[in-house]
Amino acid sequence: MKEVVLYRKYRPKNFSEVLGQDHIVNVLKRALELNRVAHAYLFAGPYGTGKTTVARILARGAVCSAGEARPCNKCEICEEFAAGHAFDLVELDAASSRGIDEIRTLREAAELMPFRAPYKVYIIDEVHMLTREAFNALLKTLEEPPAHVIFILATTELAKVPDTIISRCQKFDFHKIPEDVLQKSLVAVAKKEGTEIDAEAAGLVSLFADGSFRDAQSMLGQLVSVSGEKIQGSDVRMLFGAPPASLVGRMTEAVLAKDPNRAVSAVDEMVKSGIDPQIFLKFLLRDFRNMFLLKMRPEYEKELAKMMPDGTVMDLKKNADKAGEKELEQILSLLIETYSARKLSYLPHLPLELAIVKAAMRS
Ligand SMILES: [Zn+2]
Repeated sequence: MKEVVLYRKYRPKNFSEVLGQDHIVNVLKRALELNRVAHAYLFAGPYGTGKTTVARILARGAVCSAGEARPCNKCEICEEFAAGHAFDLVELDAASSRGIDEIRTLREAAELMPFRAPYKVYIIDEVHMLTREAFNALLKTLEEPPAHVIFILATTELAKVPDTIISRCQKFDFHKIPEDVLQKSLVAVAKKEGTEIDAEAAGLVSLFADGSFRDAQSMLGQLVSVSGEKIQGSDVRMLFGAPPASLVGRMTEAVLAKDPNRAVSAVDEMVKSGIDPQIFLKFLLRDFRNMFLLKMRPEYEKELAKMMPDGTVMDLKKNADKAGEKELEQILSLLIETYSARKLSYLPHLPLELAIVKAAMRS
């Protein structure tokens, strides 16, 4: 599928290409420069934020035969590792190989010296999926790791990884990718693909992707295959069911004008158009947050203008003037509460409806 191809095609090959995780990349780069690579790393963080990508770069950096700026991605070992058939690089997906047998085999193999590279590198993805016995077996190796072995464990669910394992690793927390970083990467990748994505479309995709590069690229891949010369906001709305800006705008205005009747009829329209209330809420949240920030920090306007069409920023500013800081804060709190509750409701749109009625009736 095209969208998968895009994510792989533009996967960063060295640390300088990794976006949005500077706090990790800087430490790892330094460790490579000083030849102080640890024996066990744990990368924790949400899906699609670059854990596997960084693991692979670190793996190549540790074995690369270049004197500096490792990985060079040119030497024989780098190439072997990148091609994915190196004897000294083992990638294991704990979601499918989660038992004691796999880990035992791994442990035995880890005792043997590397074949060609200076280290044997084991990347274990979704490590929280291992069984208890498998964790115990892994722990034994982590307690006394052979000098020639590097483990890089990755997980989306840190809470499910035993503390005994965590304490043996250098842990790095991967963050969700900020929307502006996602947006820039979408523009850059679209360009490399010989097309263009406008600010509105890139903003919408970033919002939907929820901090995940993988999701953003996957959506871009789908858009590339259905859009014309330029990917526009309307393409994103059509393909991924984003609410029309006019409807979000009407709801926002009704809330600001303290008009619960109009707000409820906007909810009604949302239900009739089959728009997911959670997605709608996300759009409302984004707008109210931007209004709030515009009010608190006027200089935010410049940042916003880089990510949004001019007209949108003007509208937000005008709307922000219709309410006080306290009011905006009040509305935001109500929306956030509703968004995070995510409870299954008898009527899926009811929590949103209640929240906006409350917001429109604020004192
Ligand atoms: Zn190299």
